[in-house]
Amino acid sequence: MGNIKKRILMITPENKDINNFRRKQFNNFIQITMPYLAGFIDESKYDITLIDEYNQKIPFGSSFDLVAITVNTPNATHCYNISSRFRKQGSKVVMGGPHVSLLPDEAMKHCDFVMIGEAEDIWPRFLEDFHNGSAKNVYQSNYAPSLEGLPIPKRHLVKSRSFNKGAVFATRGCPYKCSYCNLKQIYHDSYRVRPVQDVMEDIKSIKSKYFVFWDDNFFGDVNYTKTLLKELKSLNKKWAAQVTLDRCHDEELLKLAGKSGCTYLFIGLESFSSSSLQSVNKGINNVEKYRSIIKLLHKTEYRFRQELFLDSIATTQTLFGRLLTLATNLVLME
Ligand code: SF4
Repeated sequence: MGNIKKRILMITPENKDINNFRRKQFNNFIQITMPYLAGFIDESKYDITLIDEYNQKIPFGSSFDLVAITVNTPNATHCYNISSRFRKQGSKVVMGGPHVSLLPDEAMKHCDFVMIGEAEDIWPRFLEDFHNGSAKNVYQSNYAPSLEGLPIPKRHLVKSRSFNKGAVFATRGCPYKCSYCNLKQIYHDSYRVRPVQDVMEDIKSIKSKYFVFWDDNFFGDVNYTKTLLKELKSLNKKWAAQVTLDRCHDEELLKLAGKSGCTYLFIGLESFSSSSLQSVNKGINNVEKYRSIIKLLHKTEYRFRQELFLDSIATTQTLFGRLLTLATNLVLME
């Protein structure tokens, strides 16, 4: 019994509305979670089918021993419906991802097994137990796993994706503690980096010239990032990343980023109100410095996208209009 291969279906679910929005964006990158989790699977024990709903249909009607779904909040209801259909057909369903880690009791009502927290320790353990027929309902990661020696994602399992840009992660978590951000709950309030050579090997395995650093704050540890960027230059790739604005005053960092192929930065300005920023523990954004830092970004010729949140101070139409004017002026600034 133990040597019989089981069939696993891994689903990257898509929300149609978000999908339509993403298709028009430059930073329309592949979701890395399922190819990465597939990297942990022993293919002598499992036959893997990976479906990215971005451009593939879920094979309802086919038979699988196990269906794995990664769940984020905008997709949760959709994921629960997928799970229900497969469970009616007799498949077992395992769910993980940020929504499940934050609301495991809710998710447990819609599947057979939940993975709470980071996968590196619990996912291989669950796969082994499931194969042996001894899986428990709940697997919880109790510590922040090391990022050393992680497997290379099985990107070849992602089929016929026309805009198949790569994704990779070099760090996990963020050294800051903004009160509205749920990273602390998901990642044991810990910030970690991957060994530079591991990241380089991972990037070398990406076929396309373009990729994104799927990091929460790629400039979180400036010295680490600079070391990686010096190595990265030799690969002649183009990349994008999400970073915090406060790190962008470091001209050396921006230059290294540019030389290593940076084309796009996603930055959270969040607000033009210092008191609003203080109220959510995001004092690292200094409103007085927005203009000078963005000038520096213009000088280094990056494309960047700013993100704003609408706080209670900006709820009237007038203030919303003012917010847009301020944001537009910053982007158009020479
Ligand atoms: S800087 Fe960004 S990633 Fe870091 S804690 Fe704040 S919101 Fe989260």
